[in-house]
Amino acid sequence: MKDVYRKYKLKVGLEIHFQLNTMRKLFCHCPVGLTHETRGFKFERRLRPTQSELGQVDPAAYFEFQKGVKIIYYAPEDYTCLVETDEEPPHTPCMDAIKVALRVARFFNMNIVDEIHFMRKVVIDGSNTTGFQRTALIALNGFFTLDNKRYGIQSICVEEEAARIVEKKGNYVTYLLDRLGIPLIEISTSPDIESPEEAVKVAEYIGRVLQATGYRRRGLGTIRQDINISIMDGTVVEVKGVQKLETLAEVIKYEFERQVNLLKIAEVLKNRGVDADSIDREKHVDITSILKASSSKIIRRVIDKGGRVYGLKLPGFKDLLGFKVARDKTLGKEFAERIRFWTGVGGLFHSDELPGYGISKDEVDRISKELDLGDHDAFIIIGLDPGLAELAFNKIKERAKEALNGVPYETRGALEDGSTYYMRPRPGMARMYPETDIPPIYVSPEIIKEIESNPIQDPESIIRGIADKTGLNLDKAYQIFDEGLVDIFNKLYNKFRKRFSSGFLASVLLDYPKALEGEGIDTSSLTYELIEEILNGVMNGLYEKESIYDIMKIVLSEGISVEKAVDKLKLKKIELEEVRKYVYEIISSREDIMKMPPDIRRKRIIGIVMSKYRGRVNPKDVINIVEEALKNGL
Ligand SMILES: [Zn+2]
Repeated sequence: MKDVYRKYKLKVGLEIHFQLNTMRKLFCHCPVGLTHETRGFKFERRLRPTQSELGQVDPAAYFEFQKGVKIIYYAPEDYTCLVETDEEPPHTPCMDAIKVALRVARFFNMNIVDEIHFMRKVVIDGSNTTGFQRTALIALNGFFTLDNKRYGIQSICVEEEAARIVEKKGNYVTYLLDRLGIPLIEISTSPDIESPEEAVKVAEYIGRVLQATGYRRRGLGTIRQDINISIMDGTVVEVKGVQKLETLAEVIKYEFERQVNLLKIAEVLKNRGVDADSIDREKHVDITSILKASSSKIIRRVIDKGGRVYGLKLPGFKDLLGFKVARDKTLGKEFAERIRFWTGVGGLFHSDELPGYGISKDEVDRISKELDLGDHDAFIIIGLDPGLAELAFNKIKERAKEALNGVPYETRGALEDGSTYYMRPRPGMARMYPETDIPPIYVSPEIIKEIESNPIQDPESIIRGIADKTGLNLDKAYQIFDEGLVDIFNKLYNKFRKRFSSGFLASVLLDYPKALEGEGIDTSSLTYELIEEILNGVMNGLYEKESIYDIMKIVLSEGISVEKAVDKLKLKKIELEEVRKYVYEIISSREDIMKMPPDIRRKRIIGIVMSKYRGRVNPKDVINIVEEALKNGL
């Protein structure tokens, strides 16, 4: 597989965004965190595209505006102030966030800027109340070495996180403002990555470097990766919004396959002599009269609503619209995604999939004749409001012309399964202009001295250090580090190492919460203090370590104290005298067991006793008592 990627010269660059858990947000003093809180207030805005200083309106921005979307903001009291609602200018930037970025820049051997200037990047999807996102370049041109290969780091920026979408309904989008303004650090690598596996390795490594700063926020959605992917003779495609490492590899595989196939299609079109002029010459034709009696429900519904059906000849596209570009997605589907984006019209039919969908062979023949189709030609039909026809078919022709060059220059979105879809045109360059509300920050020798006195420790050496010191196996040490549990693990290890092995402590931190979540239990309130309290109970002989999981489960799911949970589980450690009594009871009453061979008999009795007292008595004590009783009884 690696050879295939090499053959097509796959090149991947990553743009990774990490949320930082600083004491405050980037431009105000609200705390960093998300809330379920419902107190707060709502307000509504409609965003307009502002012209940049060059007098151009960004196409992406203009489009969102055209769609006429109204935006509702919801501002939870404890996590927002007048800055998030754009009633007040930004406060001085959070220096902790900037210092983290500077430390990362040093770690990656980068050139740090002399002055940090915040810029405004236009965003008009409503994710920011101001209509722009503030971003500042911190450093340029660095590198790191991983498994003997050198990877370039192009830039590091600090920016503000966007508001989060909670609902999208009709013409309304609702955003929650708690997330708006959380500091983000954006790290962009050079396109040095040559396979999906390598991308995962690099992303993992950069994530660990961020982890080692001590400021990386944890949890779902706290990291977001944009991927730039290209192959030989293609165009760089930007895929946005990958949250998980597993998805990262899948997206690259998917895009690779897609781009290779798009280039194959371009080759066929070239051989058939199709050029941009031949596509531009075609004009969409009203074919409603041919289909007015069609048994296609979709077509009938359009006509009944007063819409018209149009057809467009695509010269040289025969068998290409039905061609699968990636997994099950055909080129025809890519055309459909474009139309949906620009007009909101749900679908189209193309000649490679017809007759079908209720459209008969006879109807196809008549359409072909009407559109004057040649041997290698294809057609597309769309039913829609006549007012949208011009736009829809211009976009079809645009996409068809892009097929001549293979891979279109566009921004795509990623889905969980790794597939990608057309998201929007690539934004123009006119998106950035200076933020005049924030004075530039001079990166003084004092600041440099300060960050150099606090360098980021190499993650690998931290992880090896944990393994060496505690005897934990390396795999588990990696997990402890990656989950951000190093401090908690060290504290637990120092306190409990005489009673519990490092492997057991790691398991309590890693496996128990995972298993609890598997049972549908929210573990977000599982703190160090709670774990410490539960482990202390074992130390004090109140119950055995086998009960730790059950206690955790009850405390977290019912929100009660450890003491109450222990009561509930009837886990109060029982006196050995009681165990002894029970053993004698079994010996005297269970003749069936006493007739068994000695070894099986012993095991059976231990089994019965353990099942009654599990977690409340040390298994070693049970074994001793049973053996003693059997000896005495004989
Ligand atoms: Zn605030």
